[in-house]
Amino acid sequence: MAAQYDIIVIGAGPGGYIAAIRAAQLGLKAAVVEREHMAGICSNWGCIPTKALLRSAEVYGNMTNAGEYGLKADNFDFDIDAIVKRSRGIAGQMNNGVQFLMKKNKVDIIWGEATISAPGEITVAGSKKPVVEPQHPKPKNTLGEGTYKAKNIIIATGARPRVLPGIEPDGDRIWTYFEALKPKTMPKSVAVMGSGAIGIEFASFYRSLGAEVTVIELLPQIMPVEDAEIAGLARKRFEKRGITILTDAKVSKVDKSKAGIVAHVELKDGAKQEIKADVLISAVGVQANSENLGLEKLGVKTDRGVIVVDGHGRTNVKGIWAIGDVAGAPMLAHKAEHEAVIAVETIAGQTVAGLDKAKIPGCTYCEPQVASVGMTEAKAKEAGRDIRVGRFPFVANGKAIALGEPDGMVKTIFDKKTGEMLGAHMVGAEVTELIQGFVVAMNLETTEEELMHTIFPHPTLSETMKESVLDAYGRALNI
Ligand code: FAD
Repeated sequence: MAAQYDIIVIGAGPGGYIAAIRAAQLGLKAAVVEREHMAGICSNWGCIPTKALLRSAEVYGNMTNAGEYGLKADNFDFDIDAIVKRSRGIAGQMNNGVQFLMKKNKVDIIWGEATISAPGEITVAGSKKPVVEPQHPKPKNTLGEGTYKAKNIIIATGARPRVLPGIEPDGDRIWTYFEALKPKTMPKSVAVMGSGAIGIEFASFYRSLGAEVTVIELLPQIMPVEDAEIAGLARKRFEKRGITILTDAKVSKVDKSKAGIVAHVELKDGAKQEIKADVLISAVGVQANSENLGLEKLGVKTDRGVIVVDGHGRTNVKGIWAIGDVAGAPMLAHKAEHEAVIAVETIAGQTVAGLDKAKIPGCTYCEPQVASVGMTEAKAKEAGRDIRVGRFPFVANGKAIALGEPDGMVKTIFDKKTGEMLGAHMVGAEVTELIQGFVVAMNLETTEEELMHTIFPHPTLSETMKESVLDAYGRALNI
């Protein structure tokens, strides 16, 4: 007799494991199926290990600039193996943490590869993706291959690197984020194809450690989802740091040799350029893991590989839900987690608001950091909104100057008639921590008036947020 659950989640990434925990909190019997690593891409090969690498790069950068702070730091160097070891160790720690959370919440872990064999039923086969890293052990006391029944199945199978035909990663000269997170040796030069968050974070990391870095972006703007003005400021800083940036530039072919790669780049004006580097990091987006799950047989609707869901995670087939990367953009861990909670609470019969994609923040942890929520200036105008825009530079903020971080800006966008905050965009030190202030504000449907009457602590970088709001209404005080 197959085990019977209220909810089975396929995939133990941030979408899947959070769904299982919320289900357990609501008294539902839950299991999570995982084939490779507890905590998913986010903790093992994404959000967390990249931040660990970037932290090493930041500390190294601070040591390099020690003189600016009246300090002496001589004879220091970095050890790429030790940097990678630290990052992998932190990934392992996260992985163990999720195993602990499953145990604490009495969620069964089923180890293997799941397919949905019939409505309300999954079949788990032996994983084709063996655990290879000691930091990522297979959890103890898992259930194994077999058939399992559940009233509701939540698909949270995530995504994998998107591959451009002819420029397939080979793990040697053409890397995806997997190899970029775990280089065997420190490359002297790196070409990065794609300037979204993943590409830019790796560009920033390798440049901080001294590599010659060239970023090649197909669109006219780097970090294409960001506000053009903020992306422009970030670009200037990257270029000042020695990163070469090509926009409106298409990699048409990559030649590989023992010495490295040559990326053949076509520019918008028809000019051609060859970029030589030790390696190419392919960072052209991710592709949803929606294959081999039995979706076609069940008639679950997909669109270019992404499972089509409503704001509560429902697919078109009763009892089958999808959350996280497999359910589409923005492919971010916090979006996956929030969708998980919404889907499970809906399954439990609660009345919950659906996902509001307009209020999902996005952060890039490069140097300088970039963070945003809501509409860009261009999008607000495109939507026909009559807007007010405020800006405040870090150079006019005492804390930024004291930190030695005067390059940065906060930009806020309001509806002129109603005062509704439509978007906030930032570049500079610690803005990935600051943005949440505006996310809360937007979620509470704050107006400019309320923000202007909110007291921000002094001296903090957050004062630039208030000044930006004041500036939108011609009332900035410190500039
Ligand atoms: P995943 O985390 O991908 O988890 C899916 C899980 O399902 C995997 O563990 C997989 O093994 C398992 N699985 C798949 N198919 C099956 C099957 N058939 N049977 C059993 N198990 C299966 N996001 C942020 O918000 N902030 C960041 O800073 C950030 N940085 C990133 C950096 C990099 C380099 C990368 C690659 C991604 C980054 N992301 C970041 C994105 C983030 O990792 C994803 O949005 C997030 O992991 C999605 O969560 P998920 O639960 O949907 O899927």
